[in-house]
Amino acid sequence: MSSPNEQSCPVCGVKIVSMIGGDRVLFSVGPPGTRAVLWQRVCKHTNKPGCINLDGSAR
Ligand SMILES: [Zn+2]
Repeated sequence: MSSPNEQSCPVCGVKIVSMIGGDRVLFSVGPPGTRAVLWQRVCKHTNKPGCINLDGSAR
């Protein structure tokens, strides 16, 4: 059984794990962060369809 709450963003190449209290984002490099951090660091610049974190400000 792998984690059912784990998603990966095919565009940004990060994993997002749903956790109580907020999602945890696992970057390929560096310490884990939040969706907001992912948005600031990656998705904001990527801005492609297929990114699962396009609504960075909405959550
Ligand atoms: Zn993304």
